Amino acid sequence: MSFYEDNVADGSHCMSCCQYIGEDVGYPRACVQCGGEPGAGVGGKAAKRVRMRMFEDWLQRTGVAHTKHNNGYHVVMTLPDGRKIDVWPSTKKWQLRGGKMSRDGNALNRLVRGK
Ligand SMILES: [Zn+2]
Repeated sequence: MSFYEDNVADGSHCMSCCQYIGEDVGYPRACVQCGGEPGAGVGGKAAKRVRMRMFEDWLQRTGVAHTKHNNGYHVVMTLPDGRKIDVWPSTKKWQLRGGKMSRDGNALNRLVRGK
């Protein structure tokens, strides 16, 4: 995974000058010097809430057993076959235990639904 994918795509670093901005927000953004918004950026916190709510809706529909940690920022899903998936809904990141970190929501959906 490149620096861009790992640090710029999730918004922790400026998409223009690559300087550190702050916590992951799950989408690329620019720092204040490059025309970005101070703090979490435009709609940053709102977007995070929307992602977490959409994830929650999806999670309920899957019916998969899960536990929540850190106020729902970290969710551990347990598939019927015992495999565990760590999900960080606010950043759209997920990882099958022992596997690679991903942000592909469709792949997660296929994995969980067994299709
Ligand atoms: Zn910048």
